[in-house]
Amino acid sequence: MQNFDFYNPTRIVFGQDRLGELDKLIPASAKVLVLYGGGSVKRFGTLEKVISNLGDREVIEFGGIEPNPQFETLMKAVKVVKENDIDFLLAVGGGSVMDGTKFIALAASADKDHHTLLFHGFNPVPVEKAVPLGCIATLPATGSEMNAFSVVTYNEQKYPITSPLVYPQFSVLDPDFTFSLPKEQVANGVADAFVHVIEQYLTQPVGAKVQDRFSEGILKTLIEDGPITYQSDDLAARKNFMWSATSALNGIIGVGVPQDWSTHMIGHELTAMFGIAHGRTLAIVLPSLLRARKAQKHDKLVQFAERVWDITDGTEDEKINQAIDKTEAFFNSLDIVTALSHYGIDDEGIDTVVANMEKMGLTQLSETGDLTLDIVKEILLAAK
Ligand code: NAP
Ligand code: FE
Repeated sequence: MQNFDFYNPTRIVFGQDRLGELDKLIPASAKVLVLYGGGSVKRFGTLEKVISNLGDREVIEFGGIEPNPQFETLMKAVKVVKENDIDFLLAVGGGSVMDGTKFIALAASADKDHHTLLFHGFNPVPVEKAVPLGCIATLPATGSEMNAFSVVTYNEQKYPITSPLVYPQFSVLDPDFTFSLPKEQVANGVADAFVHVIEQYLTQPVGAKVQDRFSEGILKTLIEDGPITYQSDDLAARKNFMWSATSALNGIIGVGVPQDWSTHMIGHELTAMFGIAHGRTLAIVLPSLLRARKAQKHDKLVQFAERVWDITDGTEDEKINQAIDKTEAFFNSLDIVTALSHYGIDDEGIDTVVANMEKMGLTQLSETGDLTLDIVKEILLAAK
């Protein structure tokens, strides 16, 4: 296991009927900006419940943060924060609203040209302060509710941004707020959480037994309870799905292990260029990526086959092939089509994706940097 620091200050307030505790979680004197997306939280009554639990605090609303939040929209919210001396941000929504709120928290406290905040990748943004924030998570998927990451779209490119200053102070995870999700958003969330685990687990083995077994537990839970949540209103399954999604990207399984975010890097391009939902892009890319990377990921793929998919028969190669096929079938069972052609993307589209990644400097992916653009092209052609 590699050396690591682990720090995660986010308080999780998990379960039904916990909104009454907002009063304790946000300073009584705070001037609060409540941020939300395209209106689902208004339509289904979540916003009203949140606001009624903020008591006498001065509250301003900012709606309209779109899926894959746009820099320009977020800058409008920054203006509202500054003009109204807002001192607490409350995100009510999915990953896009939570990510957008994190960017707003940083940008509202930074004097510099706000575009420069976009260009630090996975290094912390060099700013000294951020407006404190909390989340009411309505879509289990990204883990944004308990991490320090944000993804912002600018000029049709997705930019990862991180800073320890944007860990939410708290996140309320009430499964009741997720029953209004359209089925396909549940499927996207399961796929996103599954791939978050894979990107931290299917990497060079370093003997990290606890992280491996945490990862395997989350993957098995998603395999069991993802489809139940997709098909039904089963509360117990939904709770497990929700905590799986948070645990997949709150840092705990990623400590002391190499991480390979290739599937996300390629998937981000498919979202930015063709508008395919984030989780779906990952389900398209992952099976082909694993087939192309069998040699590099051999030992971990065997472990994945045996421990996650319970495959006991066959040679190691046969086990790996079965595990990848089962993974793809799992996504398909959630009605996610894993072929690029279904989304209207042909050879020309694939060339544009590769050219764009080159322009963005995304030329050496994986934990060792050996996944080059010719392999990305091979992966995308195989996903056709
Ligand atoms: P999302 O973009 O936040 O939301 C997708 C859709 O679901 C929206 O149309 C939203 O509608 C709707 N929705 C959300 N909650 C709902 C509910 N309870 N009932 C009905 N509809 C609901 O989806 P997401 O997958 O959570 O977030 C995706 C974004 O997160 C991407 O930009 C991705 O790159 C990023 N991401 C971030 C991280 C991270 O670590 N921070 C990790 C992975 C991905 P409304 O807009 O009307 O509310
Ligand atoms: Fe993701």
